[in-house]
Amino acid sequence: MAKKEFKAESKRLLDIMINSIYSQKEVFLRELISNASDAIDKIYYRALTDDSMTFNQEDYYIEVVPNEEERTLTIKDTGIGMTEEELETNLGIIAKSGSLAFKEENEVEDGHDIIGQFGVGFYAAFMVADTVTVKTRSLDSEQGFKWESAGADGYTIEPIDKEAVGTEITLKLKENKDDEDYDQYIEEHRLQTIVKKYSDFIRYPIKMTVTKSKPQDDDSDEYVDYKEEETINSMVPIWRKNKSELTDEDYVNFYQEKHYGFDKPLKHIHTHVDGNIRYDAILYIPESAPFDYYSAEYEKGLELYSNGVLIMDKCAELLPDYFSFVKGMVDSEDLSLNISREMLQHDRQLRLIEKNIVKKIKQELKKMLRNDRETYEKFYDAFGRQLKFGVYNDFGANKETLKDLLLFYSSTEKKLVSLDEYVSRMPEDQKYIFYAAGESNERIEKLPQTELVADKGYEILYFTDEVDEFAIKMLTEYEDKEFRSVSSGDLGIDTEEESKKAKEEEDEHKDMFAEMKELLSGKVSDVKVSKRLKSHPVCLSTDGEISLEMEKVLNAMPNNQQIKADKVLEINIDHDVYHSLKAAYDKDEGTFKLYTNLLYNQALLIEGLPVSDPVEFTNDICRVMV
Ligand code: ADP
Repeated sequence: MAKKEFKAESKRLLDIMINSIYSQKEVFLRELISNASDAIDKIYYRALTDDSMTFNQEDYYIEVVPNEEERTLTIKDTGIGMTEEELETNLGIIAKSGSLAFKEENEVEDGHDIIGQFGVGFYAAFMVADTVTVKTRSLDSEQGFKWESAGADGYTIEPIDKEAVGTEITLKLKENKDDEDYDQYIEEHRLQTIVKKYSDFIRYPIKMTVTKSKPQDDDSDEYVDYKEEETINSMVPIWRKNKSELTDEDYVNFYQEKHYGFDKPLKHIHTHVDGNIRYDAILYIPESAPFDYYSAEYEKGLELYSNGVLIMDKCAELLPDYFSFVKGMVDSEDLSLNISREMLQHDRQLRLIEKNIVKKIKQELKKMLRNDRETYEKFYDAFGRQLKFGVYNDFGANKETLKDLLLFYSSTEKKLVSLDEYVSRMPEDQKYIFYAAGESNERIEKLPQTELVADKGYEILYFTDEVDEFAIKMLTEYEDKEFRSVSSGDLGIDTEEESKKAKEEEDEHKDMFAEMKELLSGKVSDVKVSKRLKSHPVCLSTDGEISLEMEKVLNAMPNNQQIKADKVLEINIDHDVYHSLKAAYDKDEGTFKLYTNLLYNQALLIEGLPVSDPVEFTNDICRVMV
């Protein structure tokens, strides 16, 4: 029988795995038991929904069998088993191909977060075993198979006789070392403790034959040992328990056992709902985004149970996209077991549960924002972008739900602030909520356009995410206060006197600006006296809905439509440069043209937009210098 090698990358992964993923070796048992439980979930569901199968509650259990003489530990289950092909694909390739590549690219030191997302739980067995033997027979096969591997070298598969459907995994424990005792994994008491700690809530019995002692006869002091099979877990699923009986650690264990993530969740939400619709749910806000979160590969969804029976791994209908980061499960008595994909989409009960869940998540996030700002900012750092996409998507249908959860960096507070905080601080004469968009806080800080608004003492929100301005355009206002970019034409901050003065200046410079506009035709839609500039000679502002930042984003998209913002070149007539410009206009056509181009290109550079002809631009600078 030929030995098959693990896929090349698997070998390395196996090493990483054995040496670094799990901080405690004992969790191998949690992994194997949770796989067994998943396998029983599958056959249980089939038995309940397939009339040709008989159903006996007692037929579904897990057994833990330590063997002292052989130094082996066996975990048996009466689950759905694996076919030969399934053995090959499930246990022959560790992790889906992308994970290792990702790990290397990103030089992740500690594999937890990533590897955990790919299902390598089975391989945890190699932390404590030299050889792992899997004997299995699938519900869909007459033939049993044996898979065996002594670690990174590879594995063998051969047919065997196996009467019962299900899987038996036998670990040949490693030799003890000075600092590592592997014998503990055949000690009854130790095994009981580990099962209690990590797998107490598994809803099938986990059985073990334990040694007990009793008096030899009624009035004897002599004790004799005898063996008895016991169920060591409580079997009440964690979501059915009372919150008061559960510790934070229980919730974290459940999160990790379920592989919702390998991070520690920032928060858990446990609800029992009893009303129009009845359900129990445990929901988690993860601490960090899975690496594929902001990609098309990411699949949202909650586990869905019908009266304790798992009917779906990832029920997408239970979570709107803007809360797609939430992990967890829902169990409802009111759902039919036979519910199909299409039915799910129209199921009224499910809609109701979703609505309730959304409300609950929002409430909890708001509470966190109010009472535990530090944790909320951690959350926002990981998932804030998703909330902003949520405001923008579906034509703003969810903006009301989400607007109170948004945070932006503030020019005056120098930290993230909510819109509510911003508005409550607005001076009475301030009409708009001001924002400035740019690549980073540092760059926005230096934007000439922010000068006047900042000078008036108004707070400015900094938009550094591409989605920010789009989301805000969708929101349009918060508590009746409109949003206004510091680069937009009208800032609404002039006094009457200032407006009058500006009008006069505009008239005075009409001819010169008209000529500049002519020279820059196709590039700018207008040239104006700037009201917002203080120390800078020039800047760009925009007319209309599309801002400069939006132009950048839209044009970076595939098959862009060459969308252009209506750019307005603003000149600071109090700046010395202006006087040179004016002098050139009065007597030297060539120099005037040169200055006009230079000013325009400078304005582009300040905005982080490319100058259309860099060579011409540097030639122009040389001409000024010589
Ligand atoms: P994960 O369980 O996270 O998918 P594992 O490496 O633990 O990753 O297991 C890989 C796959 O092997 C499982 O998804 C399942 O299909 C199969 N498997 C593991 N253990 C069993 C078992 N006891 N019975 C049936 N199938 C199993």
